[in-house]
Amino acid sequence: MADEFNLIKTYFEPLSTGLADDELGIGDDGAVINTPENHQLVVVMDTLVSGVHFLEQTAPCDIAWKALAVNLSDLAAMGAKPVFFTLGLTLPESDDDWLKSFSSGLAEIANSYNIALVGGDTTKGPLAVTVTAHGWVKSGEAVLRSGARIGDVICVTNSIGSGALGLKLLQGSFAEAFKGEFTVQEKNQLMQALNRPEPQVLVGHLLHQYATSAIDISDGLVADLTHIVDSSNQRFGEISAQVKAEIYLERVPVLSSVKRYLEQTGDWSAVLAGGDDYQLCFTMNKAEFDLIRSNTLRFGVEITEIGRIVERDPSQGLFNKVSLTLNGKPYALNAQGYSHF
Ligand code: ADP
Ligand code: MG
Repeated sequence: MADEFNLIKTYFEPLSTGLADDELGIGDDGAVINTPENHQLVVVMDTLVSGVHFLEQTAPCDIAWKALAVNLSDLAAMGAKPVFFTLGLTLPESDDDWLKSFSSGLAEIANSYNIALVGGDTTKGPLAVTVTAHGWVKSGEAVLRSGARIGDVICVTNSIGSGALGLKLLQGSFAEAFKGEFTVQEKNQLMQALNRPEPQVLVGHLLHQYATSAIDISDGLVADLTHIVDSSNQRFGEISAQVKAEIYLERVPVLSSVKRYLEQTGDWSAVLAGGDDYQLCFTMNKAEFDLIRSNTLRFGVEITEIGRIVERDPSQGLFNKVSLTLNGKPYALNAQGYSHF
């Protein structure tokens, strides 16, 4: 059983790589990082708590993957290029098997996305993992939630709802009307989406010149899109008309297994409010969409137009921020996005 200092040296120092000769990662009181000219630092942080963000039986390598992935997803939504991260680890005990698996999952995603671990803190207590990640954007080019304008198309990357269905699969909590079985391959796909989400870093970076607003979908499409609507109205509210989002559900991209689930149950709540997607939702000018789409396809990411930003009719009340239709008919969602309190 490694003590605190050996634990850091064995499992985490090897991830402190890729730094310049005059930079400093793990080992001193603080990390020292060079800052490029004409850039701004984007800072994000997310905590994963055992029993809240992952089930107790989750493999340590998957916990590590997700802890960094959700942060990279936030950087992606800002259009930032990931550069370095720190790790706050609270562990009930120093268990070498657990730490070996955890640090291997962390190394895997850190290497995939070329981001260095430069420091952290290690404490004893109930299992929780906090990551702060840092990325660069060119000054003034960060993509905010607040830029959506009337006429913009609303788009998402890849498909949504897979992580939420993966969680249902684990918990055995499918809607009763669901008769169909999933194949082994489909189950694996859903579990992969839940445990190993791929943050949309490349798309995020590509979008920073085109998207008028962006958010990563962590709490559910409708809840997260509501943030875009709210922020955009706050920013432009005094000088122009209020906006709302219209989503055409038949266009929302889902895996074929998720599609079967939707057809049999008619229950969109997991897909729209389950969260755990870590795809990007963004708005942009329609004319630029086709151009971007062929670009993202080149590196294997599909983007789909799922709706429009339109003018909000004040007579329909304040709560009409995201309206949903399914094949032209209004659809009422009986669920809200995830909220801790
Ligand atoms: P201090 O007591 O001065 O805060 P620590 O003993 O906590 O120093 O940390 C020593 C070094 O190890 C620091 O560089 C710190 O950033 C790093 N470190 C501690 N815990 C972790 C961790 N979980 N992951 C990565 N680096 C860590
Ligand atoms: Mg410390």
